[in-house]
Amino acid sequence: MSENGAGQQIDVAVLGAGIVGISAGIAARQRGLSVVVIDRREPGSETSYGNAGILSSGSILPLNKPSLWRALPGYLGNTSAALRWDPMWVMRNLDWVARFLGNAVPSRTRPRAEALHGLIGASLKLHREWIVKANAGQRIRETGWLKAWRSAATEAAKQEQAFLAEFGIESQLLDRQAISALEPNILPVYTTGLLHTQTASVDSPGAVVKAYAQMLRGLGGEVRQSDVKGIEPAGQGSSDQGWRVALGDGAVSVRHVVVALGPWSADLLRPLGYRVPLAVERGYHQEFTPNPARALQRPIHDAEGSFLMSPMENGIRVTSGVELTDRDAPSSFAQLDMVVPMARGVVEFGSAVAEPWRGARPTLPDSLPMIGKAPRHQGLWLAFGNQHIGFTTGPATGAAIAAMIAGDTPSFDASAFAPGRYI
Ligand SMILES: Cc1cc2nc3c(=O)[nH]c(=O)nc-3n(C[C@H](O)[C@H](O)[C@H](O)COP(=O)(O)OP(=O)(O)OC[C@H]3O[C@@H](n4cnc5c(N)ncnc54)[C@H](O)[C@@H]3O)c2cc1C
Repeated sequence: MSENGAGQQIDVAVLGAGIVGISAGIAARQRGLSVVVIDRREPGSETSYGNAGILSSGSILPLNKPSLWRALPGYLGNTSAALRWDPMWVMRNLDWVARFLGNAVPSRTRPRAEALHGLIGASLKLHREWIVKANAGQRIRETGWLKAWRSAATEAAKQEQAFLAEFGIESQLLDRQAISALEPNILPVYTTGLLHTQTASVDSPGAVVKAYAQMLRGLGGEVRQSDVKGIEPAGQGSSDQGWRVALGDGAVSVRHVVVALGPWSADLLRPLGYRVPLAVERGYHQEFTPNPARALQRPIHDAEGSFLMSPMENGIRVTSGVELTDRDAPSSFAQLDMVVPMARGVVEFGSAVAEPWRGARPTLPDSLPMIGKAPRHQGLWLAFGNQHIGFTTGPATGAAIAAMIAGDTPSFDASAFAPGRYI
């Protein structure tokens, strides 16, 4: 395919067809803008495919919260299932690590929780609306999300519950018996549970993104499969006249570009002079044949084992913790190898249905996404960095960008997500 014809400038090109990009496309189209979403793969094939599918109401505290300091000594030996780190990567990225840790202080925690709470609330509303409109309503389960502790952790659970309650987020404290009543098919290994009752989950996040992409097509938007090679202002060095997006099979001329390339976003922006401090927290999953007589009712987060088990369309998906290394470094399955036997000790399941999957959570030092205009260019919009909760927060991230393009105010306070805080 080649360049769109002379005079045919599209309003918005969204780069990336993960949950964030497809959502931006839907929201822009709903505002009457002409839209093309471009991805080298099919929609929802990367990070938005392999996540745990949790639409979390309560994930308002990022990994770099004050309790991280207490956990750090346990990570130094590099044997933890929760966090592995590549020493060479840490040496090369000391600035990012220092800034990430610098945010793990009480004074920087509450404001970020408030910002994320607003983003999450707006996003869950859109997910619940869109998933029905996209004819994928059967994929959402309103059964909550169970965080469970093996040790007597009632105090920790109560503290978490009280903190969530300050934001109006409901949860139920459970003892061993109540956990067994809720999840009759698991072994009684957990003594304490906190059920996030307003959290939902889906049985295939990749399929949900594909359904949203189909909905976007139905609204008159285009979804194009092509490699994005670069972007440049259409005018002589100025972006006032829009942008030219160079593709593997041609180019498109557009008024606005939305960068929603998830963990690949910083690469595209470097030639424009933006050095975005975007790291990735890699994570893995593997799926296993379920025993129909031992079905899980909802995703379970094993707090001390540092893994998640989610009942999915293709089986039980076990997801691992965080690996800090280069985005494209070879896979290391050490964390999965640790947690899969632990998961088998909770619920019975069969053999693996496929090879392990690896993904990369895109994370800025404050664990808040960038949502807004690029500081030094007209018509360039940034929508990435949604860390561990991007599947949850994708719709409102995209909707906020569409609102800003239209000169409107997002439905939540997006000031904490302004790109200018880093670039
Ligand atoms: C193990 C794990 C578990 C997780 N669990 C959850 C969860 O339960 N709930 C939750 O809310 N979040 C979860 N997350 C986080 C969530 O998956 C991500 O934050 C989210 O998917 C990011 O979406 P995105 O659209 O920004 O990126 P992506 O989905 O990665 O989309 C970016 C797109 O850009 C495309 N692209 C990149 N470069 C180019 C190029 N040059 N040309 C064309 N296309 C390009 C890619 O093909 C890709 O499709 C989890 C993440 C991991 C790794």
